[in-house]
Amino acid sequence: MVALFLRLESSMPKPMTRAAIAEFYAILSKGKPAPETELVYTDPYTLLVAVTLSAQATDIGVNKATARLFPVANTPAQIVALGEEKLGEYIRTIGLWRNKAKNVIKLSQMLLDEYDGEVPDSREALEKLPGVGRKTANVVCNVAFKQPTIAVDTHIFRVGNRTGLAIGKDVLAVEKRLEKVTPSEYMMDAHHWLILHGRYICKAIGDPVCWRCPVAHLCNYTKKTPEGGFPKKKAKKATKKVAKKSQRKSQKKTTKKMAHKPPLKTTNKAGS
Ligand code: SF4
Repeated sequence: MVALFLRLESSMPKPMTRAAIAEFYAILSKGKPAPETELVYTDPYTLLVAVTLSAQATDIGVNKATARLFPVANTPAQIVALGEEKLGEYIRTIGLWRNKAKNVIKLSQMLLDEYDGEVPDSREALEKLPGVGRKTANVVCNVAFKQPTIAVDTHIFRVGNRTGLAIGKDVLAVEKRLEKVTPSEYMMDAHHWLILHGRYICKAIGDPVCWRCPVAHLCNYTKKTPEGGFPKKKAKKATKKVAKKSQRKSQKKTTKKMAHKPPLKTTNKAGS
């Protein structure tokens, strides 16, 4: 994951210093002293359902679906009673809805069978529920149970690697790194600040709005976007350059491989 990210983003940034990290969080926290999830929920169960539905979907899309679903069914028993087909009708505007409907029914049944309809408050227990991975479990632990967990999604992965805040080859490595470098006073809300920063400022490739970024002076990204963005022609050229470079690289590799291949044996039919 990180290799692809860095190939597209050019080079690996320098890791941020501890002092820079503390200032980074101080600035983000000043901008939003009490950050909250953008998902709409009323209790741990509705949060769990909303987060499960949000994989590869936008919070806005999930909120639209749950605004119709939750007034009809918002407890494990009610969702199980609703059934997979009816549940599907409420969430079919969300990507992967068939699978998600299956998982929400199964996890609700498991909550009824094993936890008396309550949502457990440990990551390990949450991860055993159908359709619940580490990221979802971390969000629920953090938001519903106020535990200092950091759920690394695509935004946090990008911000960590791009800025030098937490460099890691996959989401788990970035999570572990963040746990290590984030000052304790910022741990509880770190995940929200980083997601919001990634979602609205340090956006995906080609789009970070570095010229109005409050932490630009601390960030080690080498290709900061100038005010107003890169001129379109240049951006196109840059993309072409990257594509050509990787094409040349793969051609070189193929030529090298061919050079190391032993010559084909030829059989002499005459036997001489
Ligand atoms: S300066 Fe640019 S790359 Fe660095 S954190 Fe801000 S938006 Fe992201």
